[in-house]
Amino acid sequence: MLTTNPFEDDKLREECGIFGVSGADGAAALVALGLHALQHRGQEAAGITSFDGHAFHTHRAMGHVAGNFDRDEVIRGLPGNVACGHVRYSTTGETSLRNVQPLYAELASGGFAVSHNGNISNAMRIRRDLIRSGSIFQSTSDTETIIHLVATSSYRTLIDKFIDALKRLEGAYSLICMTPEGMIACRDPLGIRPLVMGMLGDSYVFASETVGLDVVGARYIRSIEPGELVIVKGSEISSHHPFRPQAPRPCIFEYVYFSRPDSISDDRSVYSVRKAIGAQLAIESPVDADLVIPVPDSGVPAALGYAQQSGIPFELGIIRSHYVGRTFIQPGDQIRHLGVKLKHNANRALIAGKRIILIDDSIVRGTTSLKIVQMMRDAGAAEVHMRIASPPTRHSCFYGVDTPERSKLLAATHDVGEMERYIQADSLGFVSIDGLYKALGHDGRPAASPGACDACFTGDYPTTLTDQDESTPIDQFALLEERVS
Ligand code: SF4
Repeated sequence: MLTTNPFEDDKLREECGIFGVSGADGAAALVALGLHALQHRGQEAAGITSFDGHAFHTHRAMGHVAGNFDRDEVIRGLPGNVACGHVRYSTTGETSLRNVQPLYAELASGGFAVSHNGNISNAMRIRRDLIRSGSIFQSTSDTETIIHLVATSSYRTLIDKFIDALKRLEGAYSLICMTPEGMIACRDPLGIRPLVMGMLGDSYVFASETVGLDVVGARYIRSIEPGELVIVKGSEISSHHPFRPQAPRPCIFEYVYFSRPDSISDDRSVYSVRKAIGAQLAIESPVDADLVIPVPDSGVPAALGYAQQSGIPFELGIIRSHYVGRTFIQPGDQIRHLGVKLKHNANRALIAGKRIILIDDSIVRGTTSLKIVQMMRDAGAAEVHMRIASPPTRHSCFYGVDTPERSKLLAATHDVGEMERYIQADSLGFVSIDGLYKALGHDGRPAASPGACDACFTGDYPTTLTDQDESTPIDQFALLEERVS
């Protein structure tokens, strides 16, 4: 797979990006542009649904936005001035076209399309209950539970049915939905996954990140608040807060890695936060060295912050090729190894004989860190010190991020000394959890109310995790058999 990060096979992966436009001619073309800017949030598949005032139109495809939605005939097949779209990896649900969003269903009230970023952590429980009472699911996506809950709600209006459905969900969801009456954008009560709103002339635009607004020329207005529903009907917009207020817990990993550095996340510049994390890392984990070198591209802002704070020169010691595609990613160990070298290469003339500090955003399995350290040694580095711009990732995410099972996370089974030996670095250091919060402008991690989800570092999950806690995991195919018998 062609990825935006050459080391992405050993990164946590954000699962989805969503984008919606209401009230603009050629809405689908704008959504395609917006999704292109959000491609880093999901590169497995993409889809767009439009509404032309009479009918809904959908195109979904495996692969990138470019190559699928840059063709005139595809965009011409998505008429109307309202459209929403989705880019995805999969966490819940298999990899197949039937799970590609937006998902669409004909309800009693008319068509209903939904694009979802996040993960419903009680989706399997809800699905089991719905199947037992007669619902038939078309996909294995957790998002489809939302459609079934709306369809089976006993409330009268579509909005009430929708709110009724949301109140049964647990976990993370930022949603952009379309009905014949308009567009609904909402964020779960804790605001775990991001969603922002902008304006393009008189049109409303919603996106996972502000870079999506930038690319279509929309003006950033604000983040959708945790627990807020924004409803757009024609030129009218209204805001609703149907949930009991709770202290927000937006994902702190958006600042560490997921969001693009040129995005604004909950009114903070992601780039500035990453630099501040790097500066904090230099304070907490100093080392005498000649050069600060980022692991491209995600380590760059933190490396700049580390270099500025420490006074050690920042240099590009790993050069990344921008022209590596899937053609070169072949099975077979020898070719795969060469593929890694095609994607990035040591800047040998710079590194030879130097004591270097490598800055990366995180360590997941550790396999890539080991390769990079080795690459630096092969290029002649005298010492290789690794510094990580996040605390050790010790826990899995259940909120829409693709994490390996806990036992595969290096930090879940190794302390920092053992990790240092595993990746064969001369030293290894992580920013502390308090340091991460300091980079966000706090005095440290507020113990009573952290203000962010940091569960992959702390294990402090902000919601119950019903499906994880089920003593007997629910097998959806067994459930289907059970229903038939
Ligand atoms: S567990 Fe980690 S990656 Fe998942 S939402 Fe929380 S902070 Fe983000």
